[in-house]
Amino acid sequence: METLDDLFIPYAELETKTRALMTNLFSDTCGMCAACCCRADICEEATESAFLAKLLERQGLAAPDMDDRYGWLDLRGCSLKYGRPPVCYEYFCDELLARLPDEETRFSAKVLGKLMDHVGQKALGGWHLVEIMEEADLAKVDHAGVARRLGESLAAFEVIQNYVSTGRLTKSDIAALDLITSRES
Ligand code: SF4
Ligand code: SF4
Repeated sequence: METLDDLFIPYAELETKTRALMTNLFSDTCGMCAACCCRADICEEATESAFLAKLLERQGLAAPDMDDRYGWLDLRGCSLKYGRPPVCYEYFCDELLARLPDEETRFSAKVLGKLMDHVGQKALGGWHLVEIMEEADLAKVDHAGVARRLGESLAAFEVIQNYVSTGRLTKSDIAALDLITSRES
């Protein structure tokens, strides 16, 4: 991939797949939740971040479309197909974790929740990709590094999807998942 522009589509594809799998796995619990963990100040990050704002643009959305009180949340849940702040996928409350059957499943779920965050690590010096606020700074991003981490997240996604079907993780599967939780990569 040559430029950051080339990353928008694969990023949106990975996020779309990640969102769909998480919805499939957790919507029974989150759909019944009376204490939804979405917050308007987190929603705002999607419009403040130069990278995420561009993903919103691709859906025909911009800051004025966001509700002042509920952010991107509507009666069906989050209205963003992609371009959510990565933290939206990372949080698992104790009740949700307690409903998962064992440690291996909890580990896999936590890795799934970190896939989008992993893509943007150290995109510009110490800055995460979604922390960049100025559009002009997107041109300075380490494109090759972001593309590599995108590939790692995609590989880990395939492992998790297979685990959901088979209930089995090999040693190489675990290595692919460990890569996502390592902050050194
Ligand atoms: S993660 Fe927990 S607090 Fe958040 S919506 Fe799901 S059940 Fe509710
Ligand atoms: S999941 Fe959507 S509605 Fe919830 S905090 Fe994130 S952006 Fe806002």
